[in-house]
Amino acid sequence: MKAIRLLAAGVCCRKDCLQHVDRKAIEGARRGMRQINTNGIREFVLNSLMSNTMMSSGHGHGHGLPPIARNVKDMRFNGNIICKKTWYKIHKIPQSTFYNYQHYFQHG
Ligand SMILES: [Zn+2]
Repeated sequence: MKAIRLLAAGVCCRKDCLQHVDRKAIEGARRGMRQINTNGIREFVLNSLMSNTMMSSGHGHGHGLPPIARNVKDMRFNGNIICKKTWYKIHKIPQSTFYNYQHYFQHG
């Protein structure tokens, strides 16, 4: 609980996304992250970016997505729309790791 409170104190963006997220969902997500290894985390991040790209672009063209559609702005979590910073903090994914995978997702 202490870690979650610390996270809540750090403001991510003007929307203060974390305030809208259910604490129990955060705990559940973190418990899930502990079960998977580095490869699993990579897959998880890429899949999450992909599903949020689909949502924001509104088209399901799969691999035919134009580059701009891969520029994911917000992430979906437990029914909430949150910024990426809150998203990777919720899952305890290091910022550098997240942006590495995002770069791979957008360009690779
Ligand atoms: Zn935010």
